[in-house]
Amino acid sequence: MSDRMVSGSKQTEDRIDNALRPRRLDEMTGQERVVENLRILIEAAKGRKEALDHVLLYGPPGLGKTTFAHVISNEMEVNIRITAGPSIERAGDLAAILTHLREGDVLFIDEIHRLGRAVEEVLYPAMEDYALDIVIGKGPSAKNVRLNLPRFTVIGATTRLALLTAPLRARFGAVYRLDFYSLPAMKKIVARAAGMLKVPIEDTGIIEIAQRSRGTPRVALRLLKRVRDYAQVRADGMITEDVASQALDLLEIDPLGLDDIDRRVLLTIIEKFEGGPVGLDTIAASISEESDTIMDVYEPYLLQLGFIERTPRGRMATRLAYEHLNISDNRPPRQGTLF
Ligand code: ADP
Repeated sequence: MSDRMVSGSKQTEDRIDNALRPRRLDEMTGQERVVENLRILIEAAKGRKEALDHVLLYGPPGLGKTTFAHVISNEMEVNIRITAGPSIERAGDLAAILTHLREGDVLFIDEIHRLGRAVEEVLYPAMEDYALDIVIGKGPSAKNVRLNLPRFTVIGATTRLALLTAPLRARFGAVYRLDFYSLPAMKKIVARAAGMLKVPIEDTGIIEIAQRSRGTPRVALRLLKRVRDYAQVRADGMITEDVASQALDLLEIDPLGLDDIDRRVLLTIIEKFEGGPVGLDTIAASISEESDTIMDVYEPYLLQLGFIERTPRGRMATRLAYEHLNISDNRPPRQGTLF
């Protein structure tokens, strides 16, 4: 899973993508609704000379949550401190981070749904009252002390909004969902990255890569790099439609951006469970993947394509999935559904 080409999750070699990150709201392609809302939020906060309200961003990996956090801190002209839910193990770790923040700073917490309960308890008053409650001493002589914190902004990111506790969610003044990018937006992102990396590419090559990137910028950047290698070694360096499609075929990424694991998810539902419904855990066990990985990484795009449907009794493959895989759908039609 970790080296899956079309995974939206971060991989080691993606680190150099930091250089490709848009820095200002004007440079952000797509996500127009989020950009517009943020523009208003930021301008209003700056006008009042206040710290920005806490912002929660959610959506599948690789769509730009971290990028937005950087863009927001640039627009607000403040520092950004980056951390992640699983790396704040104890309440004391969070207290140490909070006491080092300065007025207006952004604290970006990736995978915020993975914060421990004890850590969350410290975060609540910090977000709401800009205060840190600490206990000094032990036993009967222990004393509660409240420290004031500078006004700061938490930007939380999560792939799983449903896993956030209600009290934590309630402390965010602005909550935005990031969607998969449209094809025109993906084309712009591929073209911009190719320009910055000085990769020779034809328009048709841009389209080919954009189409197979699952509406996910991180995937597009990764595919662009692999196609660039292929063009350099097997062609004359120029990425044409043919070069891009040969390179991506070799990587077993199909015209819609599905890879071997997506196909196995669909084939499991279709062939082993007659199209479903089948529980997520059963699918996961059949293809030896984690249920969480399927839910976060594979399923959102398959749902977006309309290839699977979530029902109370489990996942079902739709007729579109059968058509894409060239399998005839002999199931009896279900009344009142899209089949
Ligand atoms: P997430 O935090 O949601 O997993 P990131 O913010 O790390 O995703 O984005 C992944 C990569 O995609 C980044 O390297 C960034 O360069 C690129 N990217 C994300 N959103 C955009 C966008 N709107 N326009 C251009 N590039 C983008």
